[in-house]
Amino acid sequence: MKSLNSQINSQINSQIRTIAMEMGVDAVGFAPIAQVADSEIARYKNWLSHGNHASMSYLERYMEQRQHPQLLLPQASSVIILAVSYYPPQRQDATAPKVAKYALGRDYHKVMKRLLLGLADRIHSEVAPHTYRAMVDTAPFLERYWAEQSGIGFIGHHRNLIVPEVGSFLFLGELLTSLRLESDQSCSHSCHDCQRCLKACPTGALTEEGLNAHRCINYLTIEHRGAIPSELAQRFGRRFYGCDTCQDVCPYNQSPKPASLFTPFPQLLHLDRKDLEELDEKHYATLFYGTAMTRAKLPEMQRNTEVYLSNNPE
Ligand code: SF4
Ligand code: SF4
Repeated sequence: MKSLNSQINSQINSQIRTIAMEMGVDAVGFAPIAQVADSEIARYKNWLSHGNHASMSYLERYMEQRQHPQLLLPQASSVIILAVSYYPPQRQDATAPKVAKYALGRDYHKVMKRLLLGLADRIHSEVAPHTYRAMVDTAPFLERYWAEQSGIGFIGHHRNLIVPEVGSFLFLGELLTSLRLESDQSCSHSCHDCQRCLKACPTGALTEEGLNAHRCINYLTIEHRGAIPSELAQRFGRRFYGCDTCQDVCPYNQSPKPASLFTPFPQLLHLDRKDLEELDEKHYATLFYGTAMTRAKLPEMQRNTEVYLSNNPE
């Protein structure tokens, strides 16, 4: 028989899940906050020590906070994980300069933050008062690890979180909260012996040990500043900004849940060669302001254009 505490806990989880689903969230998980497992920290440090994070030095900072999330909010007892599909209902033309699906719509930082703050308010007024902190890529928090702890899904070889019924084209957001919440689900799925993403990666950026950002088109076209090594650039094909290949081939993404909160911007959906050829400050603003694509500035977009035009002569 369930204890009174666990009955209360599952009632609270279900109230929070109902509110989140009403707001358009696709999956919700809960996990009590504790120190991150030593094995996970060792894996993470080992990945960094091989330089796999390339120039993203921010990933090395705040290791204490990554290991002890209570340093991010002293009152935190638990974390609520939200997963929201960004799989676009419409696709770019087959011949268009390819933009990663996550970047076709409104800047997800703003949308997810608003969602998290809205949920936190409704929990406060409709479930129980609490102290919280909302995070969307904005804190040193091992979000995919915590998503696994919540039982919402698992991390695939392509290093994205897979929620089996939804796919992996997901934005994640987290609420650290003072409420005491327990996980109420577990995930029995895994990659098993599938290696499709490892084999499909055009630049050999993925191994079973993880991602080598130096070779990843997402990193090279978005985060990296300066020239792209030609040995890699010539393998980009039609990819202009980001890359979805390892997720596109994943069997868990054969019927991804379409996004309800993210709609592609028409100017990105219909991006064409002429847009790239004309790319200057004015066109950059018209095409990209309000989207997550401003992560790459004009010089990087012009560099990506050169790569695209060289790989795709008329
Ligand atoms: S995003 Fe593209 S380049 Fe990066 S690991 Fe996946 S398939 Fe490889
Ligand atoms: S493609 Fe296969 S190996 Fe890669 S993440 Fe998906 S299930 Fe795992």
